[in-house]
Amino acid sequence: MNLKNSKFYKRIQELRHFSKEKIRKDREQRSRVTRALDMALSEQPHRERDWSSPDHSPTRSQPVISSPRRRLKKLRSPKKKAAGLKGSQSPDYRVAGGQCSGDGSPLPGLMSASEAKLQGFIQLNNKCYRVECPTSTVSAVGAVPDDERTPSETKSTICVSNSRYAMIGRISKTLGFKLVKESKLWNILWSDSFPGVELFKNMKRFQQINHFPGMIEICRKDLLSRNLNRMLKLYPHDYKIFPKTWMLPADYGDALNYSLNHKRTFILKPDSGAQGRGIWLTNDLKTIGPHERLICQTYVHRPLLIDGYKFDLRVYTLITSVDPLRIFVYNEGLARFATNKYVEPTPGNSTDLYMHLTNYSVNKRNSHYELCDNDDCGSKRKLSAINNWMRRHNYDVEEFWTNVDDVIIKTVLSAWPVLKHNYHACFPGHDKIQACFEILGFDILVDWKLKPYILEVNHSPSFHTNEQVDREVKRPLIRDTLNLVSTVLADKKQIMREDRKRVKQRLLKIRGDPPAPKARLTAGSASKAKINAKTANPANPEGGTNPVKETESDSVVIGPLAQQVAWEENHLGNFRRIMPPPDESKEEYYTRFYGQTNQVSIFAETAASKKREDLARKMRLQIEEKKAKQEQMLNGRPKRDPRKRQTAILPRAVREKNRINLFRLKENWTPGFISEAEERLRHTWLHMRTESIKTLKITENIYFTLYESGHLTNTDMVVYPHLYHNLQHGFDIREYP
Ligand code: ADP
Repeated sequence: MNLKNSKFYKRIQELRHFSKEKIRKDREQRSRVTRALDMALSEQPHRERDWSSPDHSPTRSQPVISSPRRRLKKLRSPKKKAAGLKGSQSPDYRVAGGQCSGDGSPLPGLMSASEAKLQGFIQLNNKCYRVECPTSTVSAVGAVPDDERTPSETKSTICVSNSRYAMIGRISKTLGFKLVKESKLWNILWSDSFPGVELFKNMKRFQQINHFPGMIEICRKDLLSRNLNRMLKLYPHDYKIFPKTWMLPADYGDALNYSLNHKRTFILKPDSGAQGRGIWLTNDLKTIGPHERLICQTYVHRPLLIDGYKFDLRVYTLITSVDPLRIFVYNEGLARFATNKYVEPTPGNSTDLYMHLTNYSVNKRNSHYELCDNDDCGSKRKLSAINNWMRRHNYDVEEFWTNVDDVIIKTVLSAWPVLKHNYHACFPGHDKIQACFEILGFDILVDWKLKPYILEVNHSPSFHTNEQVDREVKRPLIRDTLNLVSTVLADKKQIMREDRKRVKQRLLKIRGDPPAPKARLTAGSASKAKINAKTANPANPEGGTNPVKETESDSVVIGPLAQQVAWEENHLGNFRRIMPPPDESKEEYYTRFYGQTNQVSIFAETAASKKREDLARKMRLQIEEKKAKQEQMLNGRPKRDPRKRQTAILPRAVREKNRINLFRLKENWTPGFISEAEERLRHTWLHMRTESIKTLKITENIYFTLYESGHLTNTDMVVYPHLYHNLQHGFDIREYP
């Protein structure tokens, strides 16, 4: 038989060829990455906000559309990239310590400003830390041109079934995502509403969702007002970013007092309303019922007008991480115009909603609503058109947007403690990529002095594309968002393999090599214990070390976060990063707002609501006491409190078994060391004991006693049938051999 013709031989040849090919491809890929890294190190892409271009199109060095599929391969070879890094051995990410509150400023890290770039702030135990990343890392990751990347086998998947916008699915597809159902193992879940905590808790380490738990803190009008008012109390000079606001009925007295001393118009809104529903203007707060739940705000009566119309701005903001906080603002957005020419409010015109409100949902009903494809007309225009208009009218556009960015940062910071807490509570094991990202729609009103005011934050801004202008803004926004989020940095298959292994190890109670994913994807993860130990008592200088020394010793290396930062910096598209601020002089300024929890708890209630609650509690207790007394008089003994949970008493054996099971289930349980000699000794003793029981006839004696006293149970009869049988036939089992 000719062996060369056999199927087996052919198969072996095929496999040999296949492995040779694979080795060749790997080698090629390695050299390509090294070349790209060398290139990246020689020229660091420098990106600055470009207000001169009307459409703020992405810089040419970045791919406009880069499919996540195509990006994957490069990022899976961090070792190869590191090999090409001159000077810095790995994509390091450093945490440098420093006081964050009051006059305290973040202290410089180990790297000099030229080597390191600030990428965020984190707060641990009353201290604020700078998170820095070497510039070389930023340029290295993501520096491989798209056309040189080989497509990966794995397609990232997205579930859009909880979104009403078909556009999201369409764009995802063009970017190489595979659309899947919610029941599948998606990479991204895009939902129009806030998902429940259960969903957050069950997410795998490679999954991402388009909402942060706790973002409601700034997305509901009443909560936003509460947070901003709290911050205003703490930082009266910095937080004048919103019109004076009261929450009725709790602050009714304050609002009324203010209205008596100031001749102002007030705008009243339902506390959780949207789309202009239920909003009205008034000069007289006495007309409001004392129990109505409303948000009362001073009316910005001199807004900036374009062509005589009032307008507000919809600024799209992307948050990719809350700890450290990373915020990006989209350079393009919408300006929504009122449809009747603006006149300052008078009792005569205050009911004209087409004049005072700028909501699309309100104004589209007006026959004057203008649809226009030209940039400088229409009731909805692009932000780039507004920038052009401002430039033509000699306004400082750069300064204006710096102020808008400031308003956005401060608004997010007002809810930052809650966001951070919720994120860590929901995703304690998400160590590869961020579990969430979120596009927020900030509604900004501008007054005649070009001062921006935050009106509202939308957690699910509309992605309807009724008009050409919508399509021109929202499509690129979604595309750039999906490109910017670091979904591809998590290797789904590997994570699933690791998770399976971990579960298996836990079931088999093996103490395994891969540690449980306790490290979070935060800057503090690796060194948290160390940092905490050092900064546990910042007020006590004796207990702590010198902050400068601390800074040096607190430097840590954090891989996944560095990769995320580098990825984002290289896939900005038309986004600009505003937090951490690109202007280094602003870093110190913003760190002070991270310390807010030290001074007033975010959960602190108003004095009025506290009093109300105290009173209600007292009354409830009195009523309960009265009821209990009445019952006692009627029945003779106090009735059991129905709210008290009844504890079922299980048999002792079951309880013991449960206790042992619970103990064994504990993650770190391992059997102790068993010595062979000890084990042999134990066996001998057991054997001796059995022999003694037999020779002394202990079982028979006990059985006989129980039989005589009539306490033998059915089980005893079944387990020892011969003893029972003998006793039944009149034998004395104690004597019987
Ligand atoms: P909604 O969520 O119902 O849209 P907003 O707070 O956004 O409520 O207000 C709707 C519109 O009312 C805004 O687009 C803006 O034009 C106008 N408006 C709201 N608050 C003020 C204010 N304090 N001063 C002037 N105009 C305001």
